[in-house]
Amino acid sequence: MNEIMKRTIERKLERTAENLRKNNIDAYIAEDCADAVKITESLMKENDTISCGGSVTLAESGVLELMKSGKYNFLDRSQASDRESVEDIYRRTFTADVFLTSANAVTENGELYNVDGNSNRVAAILYGPKSVIFIVGCNKVVRTVDDAVKRVKTCAAPPNADRLNCNTPCTVTGECVSLKAGGDMPSGCRSEGRICCNYVVSAWQRNKGRMKVILVKESLGF
Ligand code: SF4
Repeated sequence: MNEIMKRTIERKLERTAENLRKNNIDAYIAEDCADAVKITESLMKENDTISCGGSVTLAESGVLELMKSGKYNFLDRSQASDRESVEDIYRRTFTADVFLTSANAVTENGELYNVDGNSNRVAAILYGPKSVIFIVGCNKVVRTVDDAVKRVKTCAAPPNADRLNCNTPCTVTGECVSLKAGGDMPSGCRSEGRICCNYVVSAWQRNKGRMKVILVKESLGF
């Protein structure tokens, strides 16, 4: 990446971090993935009970490795033997100390946008865990909520549906069917495997300091 692009991204992340803080959400800027891991570590205590949403970003950034390091009591659903155990982890997550996830998009106005199918992820974001840490690559920062909606329908949901082997139209066409009819936030397909069910904009946090966003100067996840 050339210097001009680096400066442009830096300014965008600084604007976003400033507006997140105005919305009572703590914000950090990480130089790279290693820095994001260090910041994440500084926000958790040893033996904390931690959990996470399904996230390519957590794996790509190295944060998932930190979670599995043994320093924490990780409610790891990948180790669950059956669906009942997975559901049990989802419920226990509500009393976790820390929930880690990415966001589908973050606006420069300081809003978080998340779309979920099973919705255990958005549920834990909204209420339950004492602390929620978002790791967000610079590719997910957009100008407005409208841009966030479009981002999910074009860049986030189709590859996620593909990753999760969902039989949805977007896995074939590469974008949401709703775009043909204007692409309003809640419009979508009527597939059994639809992963876009609940659409959540987090605009302001009453519980100051509960949400922390680490904006990374690297592209991560979808
Ligand atoms: S609503 Fe359906 S087609 Fe549209 S992005 Fe979501 S899963 Fe894909």
